[in-house]
Amino acid sequence: EPIIAFREASKVFTARNGDVRAVDGVSFDITPGEIFGVIGYSGAGKSTLVRLINALEPATSGSVVVDGLDLTTLPESRLRQVRAGIGMIFQQFNLLGSRTVAANVAYPLEVAGWPRARRDARVAELLEFVGITDKAGVYPAKLSGGQKQRVGIARALATNPRILLADECTSALDPETTADVLALLRRVNTEFGITVVVITHEMDVVRSLCDRVAVMEHGRVVELDDTYRVFSAP
Ligand code: ADP
Ligand code: ADP
Repeated sequence: EPIIAFREASKVFTARNGDVRAVDGVSFDITPGEIFGVIGYSGAGKSTLVRLINALEPATSGSVVVDGLDLTTLPESRLRQVRAGIGMIFQQFNLLGSRTVAANVAYPLEVAGWPRARRDARVAELLEFVGITDKAGVYPAKLSGGQKQRVGIARALATNPRILLADECTSALDPETTADVLALLRRVNTEFGITVVVITHEMDVVRSLCDRVAVMEHGRVVELDDTYRVFSAP
């Protein structure tokens, strides 16, 4: 049973000068526990694919199934549950500047109504896991890019998601910091069994992290295979 499945899924945006098929009839499965990459140039449809997975956009046709639930047939209340089962990290980190590191990580737990004591214990555990316990009381503006993404990862894991979606999560980082963040994502996968979906335009990220990769062009998946096969020249 796949954890994410696309079945002839399309997303068409209606624009002034004609329709844009941002995602154009894609069909593929992501297996529980794998690190799956989606690579493609700007405009290939990667962000739209992410928004289909986390139910921020409905598919125009076809279906998107997450954790056994067909998003195209679910009411909004159930879609919120699906979103809660997906952790997200971003290129620009999306931290709250007015909150400390610990309070950023605590935020999704507050939204989910966790009581203070459980929340504090969970935040402490997460900061330890990503290695920034010493920054608990610091504001994001004082952090390096790599530290910010560690906070982003801790926050994304707070409510125990089954899926972590990483959208260009190393594109703002230098190569050394990128390697650290990728190593942390591998630990997220191996230690917690979380399915990691990595959206990127960087081949090195896919090469060093992903088990399998889908290559997107013009809204379509033009190649999908084990990473080493996709990158071995014919
Ligand atoms: P990527 O993330 O790979 O850069 P996107 O999913 O952002 O690609 O975009 C795919 C295509 O869909 C592009 O041609 C983009 O201009 C178009 N597109 C994305 N979102 C919208 C929207 N809300 N309205 C109209 N066109 C859009
Ligand atoms: P408030 O007093 O308004 O709750 P705080 O900044 O003290 O604001 O806390 C915000 C959130 O961050 C709380 O949910 C709390 O559980 C968490 N938190 C704050 N400091 C720590 C810390 N050092 N370790 C773990 N969690 C913390």
